[in-house]
Amino acid sequence: MNSESDLATEECLRSPRYNRLTKLDNLSNLEYFVGVSSHGGTGKFPETFDVHQEKQKYLKFMKRTDMLQNARTRQEPWDIVIVGGGATGVGVAVDAATRGYATLLLEQHDFGKGTSSRATKLVHGGVRYLEQGNVSLVMEALKERGLLRQNAPHLVHELAHIVPSYSWWEGPFYGIGLKLYQMLSGKYGFGPSQLLSKEETLRRLPSVNPEGLTGGVVYYDGQFDDTRLLINLVATAHEQGSTLLNYAKVTQLHRGPDNIIHGLTWQDQETGESFEIRAKVVVNATGAFTDAVRHLAEPNATKMIAPSQGAHIILDRSFLPGTDAILVPHTKDGRVMFALPWHGHTLVGTTDTPIPQATLEPVALDQEVAFMLETAALYLAKKPTRSDILSVWAGIRPLVKAGDGKNTAALSRDHTVHIDQSGLLSIAGGKWTTYRNMAEDAVDQAATLADLPDKACVTKNLNIHGYTPNAASFGSLDFYGTDAIAIRELIAKDGTLGQPLDNDLPYVAAEVIWAVREEMARSVEDVLARRTRALFLNARSAIRMAPRVAALLAQELGRDKTWQLDQVEKFNEVAQGYLVRM
Ligand SMILES: Cc1cc2nc3c(=O)[nH]c(=O)nc-3n(C[C@H](O)[C@H](O)[C@H](O)COP(=O)(O)OP(=O)(O)OC[C@H]3O[C@@H](n4cnc5c(N)ncnc54)[C@H](O)[C@@H]3O)c2cc1C
Repeated sequence: MNSESDLATEECLRSPRYNRLTKLDNLSNLEYFVGVSSHGGTGKFPETFDVHQEKQKYLKFMKRTDMLQNARTRQEPWDIVIVGGGATGVGVAVDAATRGYATLLLEQHDFGKGTSSRATKLVHGGVRYLEQGNVSLVMEALKERGLLRQNAPHLVHELAHIVPSYSWWEGPFYGIGLKLYQMLSGKYGFGPSQLLSKEETLRRLPSVNPEGLTGGVVYYDGQFDDTRLLINLVATAHEQGSTLLNYAKVTQLHRGPDNIIHGLTWQDQETGESFEIRAKVVVNATGAFTDAVRHLAEPNATKMIAPSQGAHIILDRSFLPGTDAILVPHTKDGRVMFALPWHGHTLVGTTDTPIPQATLEPVALDQEVAFMLETAALYLAKKPTRSDILSVWAGIRPLVKAGDGKNTAALSRDHTVHIDQSGLLSIAGGKWTTYRNMAEDAVDQAATLADLPDKACVTKNLNIHGYTPNAASFGSLDFYGTDAIAIRELIAKDGTLGQPLDNDLPYVAAEVIWAVREEMARSVEDVLARRTRALFLNARSAIRMAPRVAALLAQELGRDKTWQLDQVEKFNEVAQGYLVRM
C-alpha cells in the first residue's frame, strides 16, 4: 500500500466502525466501495488483511456471469436456497449470508419485478393499524423504520405528513392518535407530531384545498426508493458471500425418499437451460406467488395468500409543490390515501382491491384511477384529471389469509412463516419496512430446519451498500449513495454519458452503463423501470428513452441490432400498461 487514497481506504476498512463510513470526504474516486458493510459484528480484521485484495473483492460485485458460474458449478448442497428476489427474499439472503451460511437466491425475472418495485415508497409504522388497535405491529414496524434509516441513510429520509382538517374536531382527534404514533417509536423516533393552524397548514401545503380548511396535524414517517434499496441489498448480500441470480426461474422442487425437499430445478430464462441443485432448506419468498411455489411440492396445499391490488398515479410536481406529504385518513372506502413528493413528482396512492390471481405485470383498473383522481380532487386546490397522469402502476399485496379473505383492507399486514410437510419454508406478508425482521425470523427457523450451526442475526447494525450520511452532496445522484462517485467517474471519462436521456427526467447515460456493468441489468425494462425509475415516473418519457437505452445495453452486452429492436418493442408493450386510458 502506498498512495494516499490507499491509506484513506485502509483507515476506513480497519476502523472498528468501518461499516459506518465517516471519511467519505477524504476518499478518492476508487474508494466508493468502502461504504459497504462487511463486519460480522466484531469490527476486527484478520492479521493478513490486504487492502488491495479487499478492493478487488468489492470492485467485482454483481456480475451475472459470476453469479451464474457459482450457481451452476457448486457441487455441495447449498445451506439455504431462496426462491424470489423481492424485498423478502433478498432480505433473507442478506441475513443468511451474514450468518455465514452458503446461500443462493433465484429470481424468475429481474430483482424487484414483483411487488417490491410497486410500493408507496414509505418506510412507516402504519398509522392505520394503530386505529385497528394493532399496537405491537406498529411498534415493531416503527423500530424497523428507525433501523432502516440508521443503516441506509442515503436512501431513507424523514418525510413530514400533514393531515388537513376540515372540521373542528379532526385536529384534536387525529392529533391524539398521531402523538401516540410518535411515542410508540421511542428512541427510534422521527420528528415530533403537532397541531397546525390553518395559516401554517396553507404555508406548508400551498396546494391544499383551502375551502373549509380549519388546520392540520403534522407527523413524520420515512420515505425511500424501493428498487434502489433492493439493488443495494442485493449488493450487500453478494458482498457477504451470497450468490443471487436474476432470470432464474424455479420450476420443480425435489423431495427425497423421506418426502422432504432436498433440492430443486431452476431454468435460466436467458438460455432456456435447466439445472438441478441440492439444498439443505428451501425458503419460498415469492410474495403473491407463494402458493404457486408451494404447489410445486404439494399440489393440494391449502392456499395461504389473498392477493390484493393497490394502484398509484404520478402527477407533476405542481400538484404538491412543497416538501411535505398529505395523508387522507378516511377515504370513501375507509382506507388511508397519500399524496407524496417523490423524485420531483407527485405520487398519489393507493387502493386496495381483492383480485383472484396474481400476475407479474398487474395493470391498474379503471375504477382505481377514477377513485384516486376523485379523492385527490377533494384535497388539492388544482384538481387532477386523466390527462395530468404521467404514469399509473399497480402492485399486489401478498396478504396472509384470514377468514373468508373478502375484505383485504382488514387482513393482517403482519408476516407469517409457514412450514409445509415437505419442509418448504414460506415467508409472506409483512411490508417493505419490516423486511429485516421478517428475514431474521425466516433464517432462525430455516437454520433449525436444516440443522445448520447456530449463528446470531447481525443485520440490526449492518450498513447497507451505498451507506453514507453525506448523500446530499451527490446532487441528483444522491440515492446511489457512495456508488455516485463511480457514476461521476464514468461521466468524467466520457462527457457524453452525462447528457440526459430525455428532457423530462434527470437520468443520464452513465446510469445505464452503471446498471448494466455493476447491477446486473439485462434489459431496457430493467434499466427504465427498476435501476432508474423512469417508467414509474413518466411513461411517455421512458418510451422516448428506450431506443438510446437499448443501444447502450447492446454495446455493453455485445448484442446486435435485432436484439435492440426487439428490446424496444418489448419495453413499449410493458409501458402501455403505465399509460392511462383517456
Ligand atoms: C400498492 C402497494 C403499496 C405498498 N406500499 C408499501 C409502503 O409504502 N411501505 C411498505 O413498507 N410496504 C409497502 N407495501 C408492501 C411491500 O411492497 C410488500 O410487502 C413487499 O414488497 C413484498 O415483497 P416480497 O419479496 O414478499 O414479494 P415480491 O416483491 O412480489 O417478490 C416475489 C418475487 O418472487 C419471484 N418469483 C415468483 N415465482 C418464482 C419462481 N418460481 N422462481 C423464482 N422467482 C419467483 C417474483 O418474480 C417476484 O419478484 C406495498 C404493497 C403494495 C401492493
